[in-house]
Amino acid sequence: MDNKFIANILREIGEILEIQGENRFKILSYNRAADILENYPYDLEEIVERDPKLLLEIPGIGDSIAEKIEELVLRGEIKFHQQLLKKFNHKLLELLNIRGIGPKKVRLFSVQLGIEDIEQLEAAAKSGALATLPKMGKKSESEILEAINEYKQHKLRYLLPYGLQTAEKYIAYLSKSPDIKKVEYAGSLRRRKETVGDIDILTTGKNKNKIMDYLCSFPGVTKVLAKGSTKSSVLDETGIQIDLRIVESDEYGSALQYFTGCKDHNVAMREIAKKRGYKISEYGVFKKEKKVAGKTEEEVYKIMGYPYIEPELRENRGEFEAARAGKLPKLIEYKDLKGDLHMHSVWSDGSQSIIEIVKQAKKLGFKYIAISDHSQSLRVAKGLDENSILVQIEEIQRLREKEKDILILTGAEVDILENGDLDFSNKILSKLDIVIGSVHSKFRLPRDEQTKRVIKALNNPYLKILGHPSGRLLLKREPLQLDMEAIIKEAAKNKKILEINSNPQRLDLNDYYIKMAKDMNVKFAINSDSHHTDQFAYLKFGIFQARRGWLEKTDVINTSNDILKAFKT
Ligand SMILES: [Zn+2]
Ligand SMILES: [Zn+2]
Repeated sequence: MDNKFIANILREIGEILEIQGENRFKILSYNRAADILENYPYDLEEIVERDPKLLLEIPGIGDSIAEKIEELVLRGEIKFHQQLLKKFNHKLLELLNIRGIGPKKVRLFSVQLGIEDIEQLEAAAKSGALATLPKMGKKSESEILEAINEYKQHKLRYLLPYGLQTAEKYIAYLSKSPDIKKVEYAGSLRRRKETVGDIDILTTGKNKNKIMDYLCSFPGVTKVLAKGSTKSSVLDETGIQIDLRIVESDEYGSALQYFTGCKDHNVAMREIAKKRGYKISEYGVFKKEKKVAGKTEEEVYKIMGYPYIEPELRENRGEFEAARAGKLPKLIEYKDLKGDLHMHSVWSDGSQSIIEIVKQAKKLGFKYIAISDHSQSLRVAKGLDENSILVQIEEIQRLREKEKDILILTGAEVDILENGDLDFSNKILSKLDIVIGSVHSKFRLPRDEQTKRVIKALNNPYLKILGHPSGRLLLKREPLQLDMEAIIKEAAKNKKILEINSNPQRLDLNDYYIKMAKDMNVKFAINSDSHHTDQFAYLKFGIFQARRGWLEKTDVINTSNDILKAFKT
């Protein structure tokens, strides 16, 4: 049971209480506890095992919440939470997944209009009933309708790490079967798309029925949806559907190629095959009736006259043309990264001290890091003013003197304000090694205003990197309304670096615009944006995204051994 799980349960209690209109202070104490524990650096389970009284030493945790945490860790559930859930309509909680809807609104809708689920909410929005409620109106009504559509579209998709973890669990299990020879996942997961739906797994092996029995008896399977001798579908406990196919070993390569997709890439492959007098399918490449390739993917591409094309490039975005011209990129790899330029410490909303961060970064072999805490908006909330960054700079410089194996850069992630100004004065910015500018507010400005805002920021001489450029949160918040092409052009003109934010919920910039920017010679930084050093692990996903955008080592600034020199070029 990790801290996030515990925080989520406390948050859910807070949400239910708020929807029920309970005491404000009680609600607040649950929300605050969830906020604190979500990023709490020490393992709560361990603390409880050592001595539950230690929970009271965590700031913001009082007797009642501490008792609940203890109960959860020791018994696996909280009685109070279970009682709440028993009396409560679960479907109301689902409404909280819709952008712009919090517990207060859910209460308003359920008390005033008797709304019990998303379908009823959608109907109420369409009929105009929502607009008549207090503090609502035509505009918020149409925003809710739009958000409901968004939610429905995203519902059956999962973030990449979640899909990857689930797939790897099945691969590890299936690999143990003596009947299975080869096993691998295909589909959009293999192409490292940022969200995934169903997971496709391919195997070869003799005893097909035994393999299928073996799959269905996996402890993580909650339901067998279909069971055949060559294809079965099961539902995993995460809610993700797994499709397993058993193919012959001489068609494994063509099946892998076929089921990896994408569809458009495969359509183009079929055209190419036709021109060469072949027929291609999941079963192989055929000349008349004779099979001429199919055992490996390499063989399939080769007979078509192509080199192997990496799965991340198979989006029919010019990969065949590039291959014909001998210009397929040599894609960047994780080992090429030499440092990370975006992370948060306790100076803003991170959960560790700078020293703790440096220790972990050294362990991972980083050559440099930039501490880039938030600007004034978040510091004010902590009772710090603009000048606190000067004290922070001193702390970093002292540490820099001591640490010879790693270069610690002074930095900040500075809000881009509504008018395009940055949230620190130029005087302060001039003292920093690296300035990341990011939009953290006013997400719904009209397209031309939003574009002007970011373009103005790209003209600040101190801004080096544009952080998470589109502002999207996958499956949750749509990207800002921006003329991204204009922004990329401005970045190219002013030699600004675009961030590939590796947080799996962001993966921002997206692959399409990465490629566009690369074609305009823009450089990138692949950053973790970590708020705890565990999140350095996100960098792997940033690399995936960069590969989908055709990036090579030389396109990415933090592959350089000498970052200060790289900034100057
Ligand atoms: Zn940010
Ligand atoms: Zn950040």
